[in-house]
Amino acid sequence: MMADTLRSFEADTGKILDIVINSLYSNREIFLRELISNASDALDKRRYLAATDQSLQTEETASISLVVDEKAKTLTISDNGIGLSEDDMISSLGTIARSGSKSFLEQVEATQASDKEKGDAFSLIGQFGVGFYSAFMVADKVDVLSLKAGEKTANLWTSDGRTGYEISSATREAAGTDITLYLKKDAKEFLDEPRISHLVRKYSDHLSYQVMWQPALVDEARQLNTGSALWTREKKDISDEDYTEFYRQISASYDEPFLTLHNRSEGAVNYTSLLFVPTARPFDLFNPDRKSRMQLYINRVFISDECEEIVPPWLRFVRGVIDTPDLDLNVSREMLQHNPAVQKIGKAVVRRILSELKKKKDKDREAYDEFWDQFGIVLKEGLYEDADNREKLLELCLFTSARSGALVSLADYVSAMPETQDKIYTLSAETLEQAQNSPHLEGFRARDIDVLLLTDPVDEFWMQSVTEFEGKSFASATRGAHDLDAVSPKDDKKEGNEDDAAKDESFGSLLETFKSALGEAVGDVRLSKTLTESPACLVADENGMDVQMERLMKAHNKEFVGAPRILEINPDHALVKGLKDSSDSTLVNDAAYLLFDQAQILEGRTPSNLPEFAQRLTRLMERGLSV
Ligand code: ADP
Repeated sequence: MMADTLRSFEADTGKILDIVINSLYSNREIFLRELISNASDALDKRRYLAATDQSLQTEETASISLVVDEKAKTLTISDNGIGLSEDDMISSLGTIARSGSKSFLEQVEATQASDKEKGDAFSLIGQFGVGFYSAFMVADKVDVLSLKAGEKTANLWTSDGRTGYEISSATREAAGTDITLYLKKDAKEFLDEPRISHLVRKYSDHLSYQVMWQPALVDEARQLNTGSALWTREKKDISDEDYTEFYRQISASYDEPFLTLHNRSEGAVNYTSLLFVPTARPFDLFNPDRKSRMQLYINRVFISDECEEIVPPWLRFVRGVIDTPDLDLNVSREMLQHNPAVQKIGKAVVRRILSELKKKKDKDREAYDEFWDQFGIVLKEGLYEDADNREKLLELCLFTSARSGALVSLADYVSAMPETQDKIYTLSAETLEQAQNSPHLEGFRARDIDVLLLTDPVDEFWMQSVTEFEGKSFASATRGAHDLDAVSPKDDKKEGNEDDAAKDESFGSLLETFKSALGEAVGDVRLSKTLTESPACLVADENGMDVQMERLMKAHNKEFVGAPRILEINPDHALVKGLKDSSDSTLVNDAAYLLFDQAQILEGRTPSNLPEFAQRLTRLMERGLSV
């Protein structure tokens, strides 16, 4: 037997161990993920080499076992993979060769240098995997017993993670590695089957090897993980039921996926993606964090489901898995966020989801309408958050048509426009019912001009940043004056109606009376060119804020005072005509207020002075009864 010699760790390795062991590691459970992943790599390596070298082949099933010895308080992670030679042990387990660990160290040191509170520096650690060394977070001592495939002597590497390590020759029946952790006093939880089983399912469920639970001295072993990463299989070998079951498992939902997208992508970055667009809204869709739950794997090892770079918040309802070999397992969460490979994957994934949604919209409108009903409200957030994808998103948007009540796309709307129409008319309201009953629609209806009804709060936000579609600008029906006669003259143009100039003249003094009665409450009083049924409505100034936007601002800030609106009165309405000819100034005064308040009520607001409103109404009723 070779004499034991104590060797010291390389300088950096010692430092890492020191940091890992002496910090309060909030996420120390990841040691298991790291060690199982190493074992899986060793199995991969052996399988790869055995393909060309028969001597490395084995009858045994490639697998990973977790052996627990309750008495000795040890947890052993065993694999029948490639194994380590003495030289491998020196170079792999005694040095820090990996870039992940190095940058980990750099970052910790940088944080320590800049951060006065030392405790904070260590919060960084939780976000890193530090490979093999993470074993020392839970163990006072670690043994690595290994026989390299194709070699005759096994070796035992042993270390307390402090002073250094020793290597001695040892025996092991077959090629492979046993990593035995002598668990720390406060780490006995890792002897419990339920705890271990949970961790294996959390991090290693989809490894292509089975992970077995094997109590010491017991023959029966139990498989802890599913052991098959569905996304790595060929599409033709996967049934719809398999996909659905997998979707339900990762999303904790019960619906059928609306879209299932399974792709392998090779190029600048290689990755496999298996994405699902749900049919029904997930319960957390409107959580304020707006986080995506896309799962990121590196070679089938689970890394994170909080990787915001892959799927933007406006696609947060998409569920699925991205698996790439092109990232370092030790990459930190911070680094994931600015990682170019992750960004490339994210861009491609978003493009793909949008183009598949478009295909679905073109092929199966009925199903797409239902999808839109569930998720359109979220997708529209992208219109103002993601200028790059705005065009594509606009193509996916659907709106309720005032004319038909059905959902129409912008392309549908534009192609149905008469040649004289050059704007896309929209009307915002709190509910569809309010929109349909809005007096602002009257003029459009009379001329058979369609208006898109916008009833989601998010509509107000994207309307600020999106100005046109296919060269046609958007125009709000509740803002500014629209010359609808230029688009299409009213069908029922009554004979003998005065033209605009003459009307302005004859209603001039009524407008003045209204203006002085209402004072500051309105920005202006003018004749409407759009009303046909109602006597009056309120519009926003051409450059002012849309009504619905103003309401949202008010909901967020009680102090918010919007610009006064413009009262438009309908010169063709009998009431307005009557008022024009009336000499009763109290009546005209009351009417000015009541018409103004009525217009407010129709928009879902309350008259600003309720007692006065009630008094005026009473006065008017009394007049009706001549009491
Ligand atoms: P990484 O896996 O990122 O390279 P680790 O610190 O986890 O870093 O492991 C260092 C090296 O030790 C590995 O690259 C591998 O060569 C070797 N190693 C670790 N565990 C095993 C194992 N179970 N079987 C064979 N080699 C191993």
